[in-house]
Order: sequence, then C-alpha cells, then structure tokens
Amino acid sequence: MEFRDLKKQYAALKNDIDHQIDEVIASSRFIGGSKVSELEEKLAAYVGVKHCVTCGNGTDALELALMAWGIGEGDAVFVPDFTFFSSGEVVAILGATPVFVDVDEDTFNMDAASLEKAITGVVADGKLRPSVVIPVDLFGLPANFLEIRKVADKYGLKILEDGAQGFGGEINRQKACSFGDISTTSFFPAKPLGCYGDGGAIFTNDDEAAELIRSYCVHGKGKMKYDNVRIGMNSRLDSIQAGILLPKLAAFAEYEVADVNRAAAKYTELLKGIVATPIIPEGFLSSWAQYTIRLESREQRDALQACLKERSIPSMIYYPKQMHNQEAFSGENDYGVDYSVTNRLCDTVLSLPIHPYISDDDVNEVASVIKEFLGQ
Ligand SMILES: *Cc1c(COP(=O)(O)O)cnc(C)c1O
Repeated sequence: MEFRDLKKQYAALKNDIDHQIDEVIASSRFIGGSKVSELEEKLAAYVGVKHCVTCGNGTDALELALMAWGIGEGDAVFVPDFTFFSSGEVVAILGATPVFVDVDEDTFNMDAASLEKAITGVVADGKLRPSVVIPVDLFGLPANFLEIRKVADKYGLKILEDGAQGFGGEINRQKACSFGDISTTSFFPAKPLGCYGDGGAIFTNDDEAAELIRSYCVHGKGKMKYDNVRIGMNSRLDSIQAGILLPKLAAFAEYEVADVNRAAAKYTELLKGIVATPIIPEGFLSSWAQYTIRLESREQRDALQACLKERSIPSMIYYPKQMHNQEAFSGENDYGVDYSVTNRLCDTVLSLPIHPYISDDDVNEVASVIKEFLGQ
C-alpha cells in the first residue's frame, strides 16, 4: 500500500500527461510560454481570484508574497506552531521575526484567541511591529479565516494564506487560496494538486501586489528581463510542469476532491468512537492532504505506527516537533504564548494513507489493523 499513490494517478491520466510533455518538448519552449499562462488563468478561475502567478515552489511563493509587502527587520509575523518549517522559515529569511501561535485541537489550525494573545504580547514588548499573519490550511482544511480576519483587522495585520496543503478546500463554497490578502500554494508531488517536481503559485485580487510579484520572481525585472529595478529571485514554474498540471487540475476539479472526500468519510465511519478522527467544521470542506488521527499518548501512537508498519501499511507523523522548539528559531518567541495544544499534538498525531485513488479495501484494511491494535 502506498501512502499517496502517484502511480495510480499517473495510470489514470497517462495519455493526457504524456501528450502535454511531448508538446512542450516539441515546442522547445521550456520556460514560460503558453502552457504557463494557460495554467495561471485556469488556476485563478478555479480559485476565484483575479491573479495567479506561478513560481518555483511553495516556499518561494510565501517569500515572494512577503517581499511584495516589504516585510523585513522589525516586523513580527504570526505563524502557527504546528506546521511545516517553510511557513516560519520565509519570515526569518527576510530578517523579520516569526512569532508562533498555538492551534485548535479539533482542526489543527491556528487558534484565533492564541493569535490575539501573541499580538498583544508583541505590542506590550514594544520592539516589533505586528505586520502579517500566516494561517496555514493544514492537512487540506482551510484555517478559520472568519475568526482570524476579525483579529487581523482589529490590529491592522495583513493575511498571507499558506495554502500549500489546502488547495481545493472550501469555506461556505469559497475556495481555499482566496482567503488571504495574498494566498499561496505548492505543487510538490504529494500535495493535493502536485506536479512532477517542484512548483508553486501565488493568488491575489490585488493588482499592485501581483505586478510586484511578477517582477520579484524574475530577478526584479522592470519593463523587461534585462531591466532590473529591484533585487528579486529566480523562481519560475517550468513549462513541462505547467503542462503536467493542466490535465491534473481538470481531474482534481472533476472528481479527485470528491473521491478523496469519499475515502475520508469511509475512514471516519469505520474509526469513529475508536480513535479521535478529524473534525471538519460546518460549512468547511477539506481536500485531505492528510487524514490525521489522534491517539492517547506518544507511546500508544508510536506502538500503533510500528504495528501498521509490520503489516506494510505506511503512516507518517506530521509533525513531530513544534516550530517554537526548532533549533533554527531558538532565542526568539517569548511573548507569553501557551503552546500546550501543539505540544500534545506532536506526541499524539498519526497520518494514514489517503489519496483520491485509494480503494475501499485498503481503507478497510487500515481501519481493521487500528481496531485490532486498540482491542476493539
Ligand atoms: C509543503 C509546504 C510548504 C512548502 O512548499 P514547497 O513547494 O515544498 O516549497 C509550505 N507550507 C506548508 C504548510 C507546506 O506543507
């Protein structure tokens, strides 16, 4: 059994994907060109925003967004304590300070009350300017943007939605990657919408930010590539990756999000009352980058993972370590924020195999090993 079966997906889409790759090679247009602009238009239409700018990966996408806002030394940027390293790394790369915020135990996403506590802690400390909040759509579920927007507005913060895992999610039928003042995603192969290498994208309705990002991602270009008006970076999506994403986006919109939701519902039906299954709040839709259960203790979680492994069932621990505990961030973050939820989650979470092509038999098998392990 595969954790995320990209081979099955390729078998389903092989003709279209191969055709796209052949076309790019035949055209010899490997950077930019019509595949990239066609993809950007389709992504923007899917998400429901005005601009989509593709780039090299999801980490660059976050960094480019912060660059467009001129974030740097003296800025405090609020990041969930329970996320992938990139969400905080990009803040530190630019010389700003990541301030970590605890998450909600049910949804794994940024807790609005903890955010407000972190902001008031930074204000009381008086050294940094609270500037941006980066809510992460963890495991495919959009963060609680309704609550976070209220807090952000109260303190004049911009919202950068890290939708690297959240593409395809929804709140009240509005798509993920449309909730931030700028939003980003990643096309890393294992993400909900993945390419066959690295890739990323930035979404916004803000014309000025979109134009700045288009400049920053090509060496700070001005009117053309050899007119450089600011220091930028080289971050582009290859034409081959754009070609691969075109049929993948069509399948994603047509059936993959629905199918992965069916698989998740099946897990929940089989495991409810036996372990803590994921909680999707009313009106929210997850694109299930992960299906993550919670056990009672670290010992129980680790023993279950070992038991699954014995039966050749892959599982992953996302994430074993809190951001505030990462050595790279040491010395920062003492604003009186309590990280007890993240601390507990790092010890008790376990992500199970899930993807749109998983069979009912595989879901049944995983669930029965878990039930047997827990003596049910
Ligand atoms: C994967 C991921 C990123 C980074 O994406 P890359 O394309 O790997 O650079 C950023 N944030 C989160 C939450 C992620 O899961």
